[in-house]
Amino acid sequence: MLTVDEAQSRILATVVPLGLETVPLAEAYGRFVAADVTASVDLPPWDNSAMDGYAVRAADTADGEVVLRLIETVGAGAVATARVGPGTAIGIMTGAPVPPGADAIVIVEDTDGSRTTAVRVRGRATPGQHVRRRGEDVRSGTVVLRAGAKLTPAAVGLASSLGRTSLDVRRRPIVAVLSTGDEVVAPGTPLQQGQIWSSNNASLSGQILEAGGVPLDLGNAPDRLEDTIAALARAVEAADVVITTGGVSVGAFDVVKEAHRAIGATAEFWKVRMKPGKPLAFGRIENGGRSVPLFGLPGNPVSCMVNFAQFVRPWLRTALGDPRPFLPVVEAIAGEAFDEAPGRARLIRVRLSREGDRIVALSTGSQSSGVLTSMVRAHGLMLLGVDAPPPRGGERVRVQILDPSFLDGESADYGW
Ligand code: AMP
Ligand code: MG
Repeated sequence: MLTVDEAQSRILATVVPLGLETVPLAEAYGRFVAADVTASVDLPPWDNSAMDGYAVRAADTADGEVVLRLIETVGAGAVATARVGPGTAIGIMTGAPVPPGADAIVIVEDTDGSRTTAVRVRGRATPGQHVRRRGEDVRSGTVVLRAGAKLTPAAVGLASSLGRTSLDVRRRPIVAVLSTGDEVVAPGTPLQQGQIWSSNNASLSGQILEAGGVPLDLGNAPDRLEDTIAALARAVEAADVVITTGGVSVGAFDVVKEAHRAIGATAEFWKVRMKPGKPLAFGRIENGGRSVPLFGLPGNPVSCMVNFAQFVRPWLRTALGDPRPFLPVVEAIAGEAFDEAPGRARLIRVRLSREGDRIVALSTGSQSSGVLTSMVRAHGLMLLGVDAPPPRGGERVRVQILDPSFLDGESADYGW
């Protein structure tokens, strides 16, 4: 049996980064920039006013109160035609270039606000006040985003302020989802005796989207080798990554492993020392110059999601260029005693809340691998190593975050 770590490293060793594409800024959000972004201009591009007010010579205000001749007014987008000489001022709005001759901005609130021929200025201006200097944010020629940087809204905004209209990123992987099982049908189809509606196609599609991939739902294949082979072969043609669910246990109709072999994939079958989700089939197949990984996840709805989070998501994130492909882990306090016995790594669904500066973890209920409701309630998975005894109440634990919204949960403070 492999540990979770061992299975992860074997899987990640196979990642080939996805190809590059140039996308408009609007499509770059959330991805990782593939090449350094270098500033081609200074930001700001020229000295400009940080406030609505008057451009003056600071020396003219040395007496603490003075009336200056108002020779022009410039708004943002315009450029002053006059020069600020001794005893004069130019009205100026936020973002307008500082006129020649001026070395300070006096804010409107420190004047009589006149827009006619003269303005009364109170207080002593210091040189440089309320002036945003050319290049104070970014100097032309500097690297503002390193290859691999996450394209947050601010990062995309910065690229835009440098005049970029597009960015180079890694292509989003197309991830096929194929559930298997004679009993599994798509919602929308009436159920016959013994059938269930699939949850895995929908929950995996959501997880794929969250990870930055493009889900391709290929429905369900019955538990017959020929059908599974045909469906897998179609999936390999259509996608960069193929996920199947179910059919990897030791049941009489578990044909996924055999189907991997039959289509010519390197077929490995692992029992991972984890709960939920022990069986995992992993294979790769070369197809038209591409190496397509095949993940055979267990069919139980929670096992399938937990396996995705441990094995498929890190693969996808690595392929997308994320330098930190794993879900974040926070330290928390067990809010109650747990009883999941050692022997395998346990990933226990927990709900988190803040109590003062501590995060407290409580079980979401039944930890059975088919119970999706306790997964719905979970903010994360408490990670217990293979030999770790179950924590008693008050002990420190580690929780892998699936849903960061606990940060604004019931006990959090919404306002200031
Ligand atoms: P298997 O891994 O194929 O042995 O399936 C394990 C359990 O998961 C069985 O109870 C299946 O009915 C259930 N299961 C398999 N596929 C799905 C699916 N797509 N949606 C919901 N439950 C499923
Ligand atoms: Mg099955």
